Amino acid sequence: MTNQANSTGANKISTLVMAAIYITLILSIVAIGVGIAAFYETGTYEVTLYLLAIGFIAMALSGYYLLQSRKHTANLKIEAPKILTTIECVKCSIKTTRDFQRGDYVYKEIEKCSKCEDMQVITAIYREPTAKEKEKEKPAAV
Ligand SMILES: [Zn+2]
Repeated sequence: MTNQANSTGANKISTLVMAAIYITLILSIVAIGVGIAAFYETGTYEVTLYLLAIGFIAMALSGYYLLQSRKHTANLKIEAPKILTTIECVKCSIKTTRDFQRGDYVYKEIEKCSKCEDMQVITAIYREPTAKEKEKEKPAAV
């Protein structure tokens, strides 16, 4: 629950930052445009130079942050947990594991066992533990 709240909070902040970056990008383009227009109107390049400098710096900064945030969100992508289903033959206790399929439930009877022709039953449905969790499960050395 707390994790979810945190992640949605982070998303809100990142969308705000993204909006700010896009606004900066648009303003930098406007600044460059105004700078060029000022050059044509006044014929002096001082104002134009300032506006172009501001425009390009703002554009470079927003572009940089945009790239950085893209990288960041790519890193943040949560892998969908793999759900596994364990099928067991009650008679000869042969265990097979396959990917979870829609409609699977514990004690559901699946196709016949290849050995004894008895019905196989789903005995477990679980999320595949991540590498981190596998590490945690190891008994800690004291
Ligand atoms: Zn069997």
